Amino acid sequence: MTTRRLTEHLPFGEKRDPRFFGQDILSVSQFDREDLETIFEVAHEMYGMVERIGTFDLLKGKVLTNLFYEPSTRTSSSFVAAIERLGGSVVQINNVTYSSVSKGETLQDTVKTMESYTDAIVLRHPEKGSAALAAAAASKPVINAGDGPGEHPTQALLDAYTIREEMGAIDGLTITMLGDLKYGRTVHSLAKLLTLYDVKINYVSPDILQMPELLVKEVDAAGIDQYETTDLDDVLADTDVLYVTRIQKERFENPNEYDMVKDSYVITPETLTMAKESMIVMHPLPRVGEIATEVDNDPRAAYFRQMEYGMYVRMALLALVLGRA
Ligand code: ASP
Repeated sequence: MTTRRLTEHLPFGEKRDPRFFGQDILSVSQFDREDLETIFEVAHEMYGMVERIGTFDLLKGKVLTNLFYEPSTRTSSSFVAAIERLGGSVVQINNVTYSSVSKGETLQDTVKTMESYTDAIVLRHPEKGSAALAAAAASKPVINAGDGPGEHPTQALLDAYTIREEMGAIDGLTITMLGDLKYGRTVHSLAKLLTLYDVKINYVSPDILQMPELLVKEVDAAGIDQYETTDLDDVLADTDVLYVTRIQKERFENPNEYDMVKDSYVITPETLTMAKESMIVMHPLPRVGEIATEVDNDPRAAYFRQMEYGMYVRMALLALVLGRA
């Protein structure tokens, strides 16, 4: 009987780190501090390469699926830019009304289809747990790009990278998360990821949008000092990183509840007069009024730089997962 060996030797340039190669990226809980150091190092190299030559052939021949069941600007386009800068290409499905999903196809079948054409799948979906479901159905890597109010691990990685690049280190910092901590998946992932560091975390939100209790317990179990308040003034002066989030309108069952809390916090130049000169303001974006545009010119406004760091981190992840970092 003849058997067909698909890969006997690693093609030139392939370097497979078993911690990442072929792995799904579903939750930040799968990483330890050493993994993060590797991702950040590779992201830094990606930054250098983009600066020097723009686009290069590290992932030439690789094809990515970008499967988006929910709106996205940054996550979707930064994954496209990341794979293209690495010389690969992308199949983009972001209007599922025009795909078989609208005929009632299951997520599992759609994912099986896409993995037969491409090398990895980036998935955004409105349901918590959907990325894990997709990963169980697929044999190729699935990257969670946001599963409803669950997690957004690649955002947390880019957030941590931003903090490190902007502040020099993560240890020793006080990080204040502000806004919708109940439904905001980026803060869920970031709080979990920060348990790998020696930080203090403040949570500022309306009462009905507090950080889920389970998550607070998990962070507490890691020995992290946490403080909860509704008033930003309680913690602003001590804050090193102010992480602002949008109130997640689409997750509210009762529209009146959204109206009650939608304008709870607005960061203005006046707010920043009470903050440290060295503080940075971050936001996963989009913003819908919670940071006044007048703040954009303040050097502490890091949210646009944060977006750019995101592309380098996603380039690093793709290179590591596809075995060429
Ligand atoms: N873009 C982020 C996310 O997909 C934040 C947001 O939508 O408010 O979770």
